[in-house]
Amino acid sequence: MTFGKVYLVGAGPGAADLITLRAARILRQADVLLFDRLANPEIMDFASPKAERIHVGKLPGKDSDTRQNRIFALMIGHARAGKTVVRLKGGDPFVFGRGGEEMLQLQQAGIEAEIVPGISSAIAAPGSAKIPVTFRGLSNSFAVFTAHPGDGLAEPDWSAAATIGTAIFLMGVDRLPMIVSHMLGFGRPLDTPVAVIERATWEDQRTVTGTLADIVEKTRHIVRPPATIIVGAVAGIHTHSVAMALAEQVS
Ligand code: SAH
Repeated sequence: MTFGKVYLVGAGPGAADLITLRAARILRQADVLLFDRLANPEIMDFASPKAERIHVGKLPGKDSDTRQNRIFALMIGHARAGKTVVRLKGGDPFVFGRGGEEMLQLQQAGIEAEIVPGISSAIAAPGSAKIPVTFRGLSNSFAVFTAHPGDGLAEPDWSAAATIGTAIFLMGVDRLPMIVSHMLGFGRPLDTPVAVIERATWEDQRTVTGTLADIVEKTRHIVRPPATIIVGAVAGIHTHSVAMALAEQVS
């Protein structure tokens, strides 16, 4: 029997209609669907009712390597059995979330992998909160950092995060105080705007805005994961006098 194929599919940031047409088409063809908590359950409706649905979210008491090994084993096992497997991943499959490792493991096992890009929350969260990640005259660059690199792995490049036009942090809710102190320590002024966008594009999306001086206080006991943190002038776009002046010049 020939091996099946595994698709690593981006599910988008939350709202079900933010998946791509290609993802929806491939979901319809899937025999097996591996999904975790970040993906919207409504997206599962794109798949055939006959497709086997397997939840591969965090397992109580198990570490992320144990979970990841289970995912590898499931993908490889089903593909070897000739099945078309969709591994649905929140946002874009290659923005954190270990998609690259999954691709390499599949290739090593001799299984064809195809990547279906998705809209990353790194871009969708600020966008849905009406924060442009670049803005002429305010920020001409952005970079995406994880606030949780993983045990034994290098810390984020804090000096780069403090100097880039717009710094976007994923997995940062519980590390917001540390992010703020590193941003200040590496030279961002206290009045730098910060936005924290929780559950972007879901119905209960919430945005809290402030500055490096007050964002920890403003979000404490309020914001929960998943949330995306934006640090830089664009996070204050709606009140920023330079932005207003630039917009007036254009109109
Ligand atoms: N591959 C994903 C990111 C995985 S890391 C992507 O491209 O979006 C998980 C982190 O993504 C979360 O901790 C959070 O920081 C961010 N995230 C995921 N969904 C989000 C959402 N709907 N709103 C805000 N941030 C989100």
